[in-house]
Amino acid sequence: MGIWRGQNSVHSTMQAAATPPMEPMPPKIRPAAAKIARPATMAQQPAQVAASWLHTARFLTTAPELHFLPALDVPEIAFVGRSNAGKSTCINTLTQQKQLAFASRKPGRTQHINLFSLGKHGVTDAVLTDLPGYGYAAVPRQDKIRWQQVMANYLVTRENLHGIVLLCDPRLGLTELDEILLEMVRPRVEQGLEFLLLLTKADKLTRVEANKALSIARLQAGGGHAMLFSATKRQGIDDVSQLLWQWAHPAGGPAGATSTPETEDDALAIPVARTEQADADDGEPA
Ligand code: GDP
Repeated sequence: MGIWRGQNSVHSTMQAAATPPMEPMPPKIRPAAAKIARPATMAQQPAQVAASWLHTARFLTTAPELHFLPALDVPEIAFVGRSNAGKSTCINTLTQQKQLAFASRKPGRTQHINLFSLGKHGVTDAVLTDLPGYGYAAVPRQDKIRWQQVMANYLVTRENLHGIVLLCDPRLGLTELDEILLEMVRPRVEQGLEFLLLLTKADKLTRVEANKALSIARLQAGGGHAMLFSATKRQGIDDVSQLLWQWAHPAGGPAGATSTPETEDDALAIPVARTEQADADDGEPA
């Protein structure tokens, strides 16, 4: 702010010197000049940096199976959780986009793995993965088993997987499938994979209940993090955003970033280590 005030006053002084004394300054000049003069590197609050980075999220690709996904060289952060845990709402809230993760879709419907690119100015420096919700009772057993296999495969073998956010409604606690998933990823977490157990819909808890749920979640998260989140009350948004930013930028700069031209297709123009590419024709999940 101080810099701005200084610049504005210098600017105003220069304008005043160049303009006849009684002539009022044209109203359009000042905002336009301020926009141009704004330094690109102006220090922003970490929460702002993280929020504006997450806001760049755009659809990258979708795939029914792991082997259809492109192999990528940028850090990937996966969102997982049982149906109705609040995953879509959380992704939409963090990215400040209403439809990105389709919060209104039918829970448990057979879905694909959806990837979203993140990064400013056509530079994809991370990917968000939305894994289908599990545990929806109405899904046929065969579909459930198939999905557990797809998910297990992804979580255990995805090479560029950098972090996992497991979303859980604390009123229900961890379900059996959550526990299985936790056990599955534990070895990778012990080897350095980032992990966050995110307690959603925290607005539904009293303060005492929230504190208790958080204490339990910290134990369950092992070496990972545990946080409270509420899209409704906008609780935890800054903390989660900053954590994800840090995961993707461990050294403070863009991790594995690659410059790509800002074209319609720039979201796809990220490093692909093998040629298999998911068929984007599937479009958006219903
Ligand atoms: P998903 O199946 O995990 O993607 O869950 P959704 O994001 O579709 O959310 C499931 C339900 O929980 C919807 O009715 C949401 O409106 C609701 N929900 C999601 N987040 C919150 C929250 O922070 N607070 C409350 N009270 N409800 C939420």
